[in-house]
Amino acid sequence: MRAMVLHGLGRPLVLEDVADPRVGPNEVKIRVRAIGVGLTVVHMLANPGQVTAYPRIPGHEVAGEIVELGSEVRGFTVGQRVTNHFYLTCGQCRFCRAGRETLCTAFRGYVGMACDGGYAEYMTLPARNFVPIPDGVSDVDAAVAADAIATPFHACTKEAQVQPGDNVLVFGAGGGVGVHVVQVAKAAGARVIAVEIGESKLSGAQAAGADELIDGARGDVAKQVLALTDGRGVEAVIDVVGAKETLEASVLALAAGGRLVIVGVRPAAVFGDSSKFTLDATMIVRKGIEVRGSRYVTATEIAQTLELLRQKRVRAIVEQTFALEQAEHVHQLIRENRVVGRVALRVD
Ligand SMILES: [Zn+2]
Repeated sequence: MRAMVLHGLGRPLVLEDVADPRVGPNEVKIRVRAIGVGLTVVHMLANPGQVTAYPRIPGHEVAGEIVELGSEVRGFTVGQRVTNHFYLTCGQCRFCRAGRETLCTAFRGYVGMACDGGYAEYMTLPARNFVPIPDGVSDVDAAVAADAIATPFHACTKEAQVQPGDNVLVFGAGGGVGVHVVQVAKAAGARVIAVEIGESKLSGAQAAGADELIDGARGDVAKQVLALTDGRGVEAVIDVVGAKETLEASVLALAAGGRLVIVGVRPAAVFGDSSKFTLDATMIVRKGIEVRGSRYVTATEIAQTLELLRQKRVRAIVEQTFALEQAEHVHQLIRENRVVGRVALRVD
């Protein structure tokens, strides 16, 4: 099969003809049709310790149809369209059983890093990783939903606990995850205040449905947020950037009882800066603020996200699709921060 193969840290992907993946008793093999591409993959290529062995086929937000089932697999059929969960979890530890599988104590790593992913014609994963795609949701949209929309779904519902009428500040609202945070927060009934840098990303956030726009380059985000909320601040901040400046401004922008939800992180190996920031304990206590880390989603939340897409309450914002062979070009666009919304690869 055709695949884009990674032979070492920081190396370019190479188009190769490799053997089809084999199917173990508890695994499912799919014919890949679409793969979402975002910062996570670009981080993985540059961040030591994430890819467990080379050569490796990356790609973790994937959609396609089932072509083969392992002998022990139940509940799926050949021909069924599916997308996938990104984590290789055990399904049996206390976190997996409690519906917090991203904290799995027997975590084996990530799809596309600890095992081959979807930058190929075929991909095989444990059956537990697959989630059916409902009719009416395209392969490209479903692939993007599995991470770039499902992650916002978890952040908005579980972590930020967005309620109708809440003011929600979104840092990084024009990026591939951010434009979907805006939409999911709107679907939950919030008034969304979007922060971005640069005209194209600001208009991307606006097109996604943001009610208010703040130009982050001005450097007085918290002050502008207070002006937009009668001095009260926002009930929740969802920070997709995760930089020291955005996190510290987030805390200042929160209303009493507000929640800062951190979705984005900036690995030092990629960005050369630290993800540490300063918190004032007195203010945290006085305002009753919560700081929460939002770590991906459960497979059930992916299914809920796909249902939101099917109902057209949220749409996948995919700026462009490219052929599998153009993966390197797409990664470069992301490295240069030139992508509004998500991009996807197609495997014809
Ligand atoms: Zn587990």
